[in-house]
Amino acid sequence: MSKRKKHPSKAIELAVQYAENRGWRYKEAGYSAHAWRRLLCSFQSADGCQMSVWSTPRSAENHAKQIRRIVDRCEHNTE
Ligand SMILES: [Zn+2]
Repeated sequence: MSKRKKHPSKAIELAVQYAENRGWRYKEAGYSAHAWRRLLCSFQSADGCQMSVWSTPRSAENHAKQIRRIVDRCEHNTE
């Protein structure tokens, strides 16, 4: 497994790990200064789920919940 930089927010870091444990991958978000990473579900195509992880969301707790909600909603997980 490749090493990645941890998110500065513990709550968001845990949510990202939650996604990774369910087969999600991340991509560097080069297009925005505010996005930390882009998360892609295991489907990994244009039809798959994806979401931006912000580096400094207004509420880290809410953003972490939002990440988990999108991961839970994904129906592409084959593992
Ligand atoms: Zn999905």
